Formats: sequence, C-alpha cells, structure tokens
Amino acid sequence: MSFLNVKDLSKNFGGIKAVQGVSFSLEKGELLALIGPNGAGKSTCFNMLFGQLKPDAGSVVLDGENITGLKPRKIWRKGVGRTFQITATYGSMTVIENVQMALISHHHQGFSFTKRATKMYREKAMEMLELVGMAEQAERGTATIAYGDLKSLELAIALAHEPKLLLMDEPAAGMAPTERQALMALTKRIVEEKGVSVLFTEHDMDVVFEHADRILVLNRGQLLANGTVDEIRSNPQVQEVYLGGGTTFANE
Ligand code: ADP
Ligand code: MG
Repeated sequence: MSFLNVKDLSKNFGGIKAVQGVSFSLEKGELLALIGPNGAGKSTCFNMLFGQLKPDAGSVVLDGENITGLKPRKIWRKGVGRTFQITATYGSMTVIENVQMALISHHHQGFSFTKRATKMYREKAMEMLELVGMAEQAERGTATIAYGDLKSLELAIALAHEPKLLLMDEPAAGMAPTERQALMALTKRIVEEKGVSVLFTEHDMDVVFEHADRILVLNRGQLLANGTVDEIRSNPQVQEVYLGGGTTFANE
C-alpha cells in the first residue's frame, strides 16, 4: 500500500465533469507532478484532497486511513500541508514572525500573536528560514520582500507544520523561470531531507521534467497518463494534448 491512495475520485459542478474517476498513488518522499491544460481539473483535485471540496465519489486514503470528505482542519491535523496559489502571509509582520506564527499554530498554542509570543519558537523559526535560504531576511517586513522570497517563506510556513504530505497548487505562479527552477530545486531538496511526499502543479514543462519523480497528466477531468519523466515525454497522447491539439501549456 502506498502512502497516499486516491481511487476513482470524481466531482461535478452542475453539468461540468471537473474530475472523473481519477486514481493514483503517491509514495513516501516522492515528488509527484500533476499537469494538464487550464480547466483540466487540477485545482479541483487539490481541493478534494485537502477537504475544501467534498468528492461526489471515490476515496482518499492517507497512510492507511480513509480521509475522504474530512474538513480541511482535520486533514491538516493528519499531517497534510498546502501552499496556495495566492500567498497567505501577514504583510504587517516580519518574515520570522510569520514562521513563528505557523509554529505556534502547529503546537496548538492558540492563534493570537501577543508580545510574549514574539519570543516563542524563534530558534526553530530560524532553522526553518535557514532551510529555505531566507535566514538573512528574517527581520525584514514581509510586505517588503521580493515575490520569489515570499514563495520561499510560504514554503517555510507550510513546513513549520511538519507535513507528511505537502500539496502545492501552482506554487510558482507569477514567478520568473529561474525563480521557478530555484523553488522546485529547494522543494526537491526538502523532500529528500525530510522524506515529505509532495504533489504539485506547475505550468513550466522544463521545471516539471527536471524535478518531478513521476508525472500525472490530467485532461478534461480524466487521467490521461501516469509515468516517469521519460514515459510522459514520449507519450503520443500527451504530446497531442500539449502540442498537436493546439492547446499550448496553459498560461496563468
Ligand atoms: P485547473 O486547476 O486544472 O485549471 P479546475 O479544477 O480549476 O482546473 O477546473 C476544472 C473545471 O471545473 C473547469 O471547467 C472549471 O471551470 C470548473 N470549476 C472549477 N471550480 C468550479 C466551481 N467552484 N464551480 C463551477 N465550476 C467549477
Ligand atoms: Mg488550477
């Protein structure tokens, strides 16, 4: 049994079959890419895995436990973290305070960021910032840092929760190609260091091909292919969806 087992996951929105019978598995420490054109159903899959959307059918089993249809808070408590397409940091706080907040929240010590709290988890927060290469910016105001750094900070915040599974829906949205490469290289390093399993979406095929251990291709709500980088690269159906069919890689 794999670490994550998704079976026949389906979701309709009125007449739109957003996700239809999607099945896949994810191993411990694996970096799995979920790709597909705009509207393929990627975000709908993420939202079902994290509990924002209840599946119409199918099951999600994490580490042997059925978590299908649980609320996000419960799924988060089971060790699933996620980063968002839109950044979710507090601009009025410093970089390190944002990580401290996440650590306080993880350790169930309430969510109010009081004066006393500014001392809590400072060392641990610094460790997290070092992990993502942001230690030098610890005391800066979050509102003043560069976009790419914000994304790295988000990753540190997600990791503060010590997730076993990390869901990243377009973590590099709005980033330049070199920044995208850097963010995924960083993610890959962390996956290897911490043994976290990651499911991510990314539009830049170069980034996907360079960093993913395995790739799932979604098209019109259905899984078109599931394979290694080489298998996906040479899959004629995938080539048709992305190249021949006039559908270029979805822009953001
Ligand atoms: P992707 O993330 O791959 O671009 P989505 O999962 O966002 O695709 O969307 C899949 C399909 O479901 C699209 O046709 C989209 O318009 C539709 N869809 C997504 N969310 C909703 C919603 N909340 N209500 C109605 N339709 C939706
Ligand atoms: Mg999406």
